[in-house]
Amino acid sequence: MTILRVSGLTKRFGATDVLRGIDLEVARGERIAILGASGSGKSTLLRCLNFMERPSGGTIALDGQLLGREGRTAERIYRENELIQVRQRVGMVFQQFNLFPHMTAIGNVMEGLRTVRGLPRPEAETRARQELARVGLAEKADTYPAHLSGGQKQRVAIARALAMEPEMLLFDEPTSALDPELVGEVLAVILALAEEGRTMLLVTHELGFAYHVATRIIFLADGAIHEQGTPDEVLKNPRKERTRAFLASHR
Ligand code: ADP
Ligand code: MG
Repeated sequence: MTILRVSGLTKRFGATDVLRGIDLEVARGERIAILGASGSGKSTLLRCLNFMERPSGGTIALDGQLLGREGRTAERIYRENELIQVRQRVGMVFQQFNLFPHMTAIGNVMEGLRTVRGLPRPEAETRARQELARVGLAEKADTYPAHLSGGQKQRVAIARALAMEPEMLLFDEPTSALDPELVGEVLAVILALAEEGRTMLLVTHELGFAYHVATRIIFLADGAIHEQGTPDEVLKNPRKERTRAFLASHR
């Protein structure tokens, strides 16, 4: 039932070791909340998992398929068509939404279906409408991002990720850029996806939401998994002093 297996993942930017050997197994249906101080490597980890960043070392296997060519990861030459496939299978939602500003909501959701999946326009449009309806935005299909609220933009971004039928969803602080009154509508969509049994990795500072939605909590520090466990273990009874200090500063 393992969907993702990460072994010894490292990532270095110049002289900076950002990830120092991450081992992580994710089972289908697991929901993992990733916590950690700013700069601890949370975004880099998610970006490596869908190959927006190229890992410096270690391996990533999706559904048992080792990604990249054989040989040491650092020497692998990633095949671009393989990476495009990985990005379909591992959907990503960003803090800053990353919508295409020159496309309407439905245009944003259709884009991958058209260019990556090669769906004809009518099919792509039908699918995109369904995804927008799922996030409660059917009536905003023809609206451009500039005329959407932050919460609506993020829901479009989630619809865009869902349209590709990913096996796993990565959320990188999906509510951090939102005004407080818009956070709830995005968390409600993520909660509905959790209730469907979706596999997800969620970087968040919303500790209450993480406690509620996650099946496992990971605390990252110094580019490594410093502590992990159930929400009760990590959030209520952290074993490590650093985890306690982090939680104390985020209450
Ligand atoms: P987090 O998401 O936990 O705040 P990041 O993964 O964004 O942390 O960053 C971890 C560290 O890696 C930081 O020190 C950051 O400056 C550095 N970093 C991230 N991306 C790059 C990059 N493209 N080039 C150089 N350094 C980077
Ligand atoms: Mg980040």
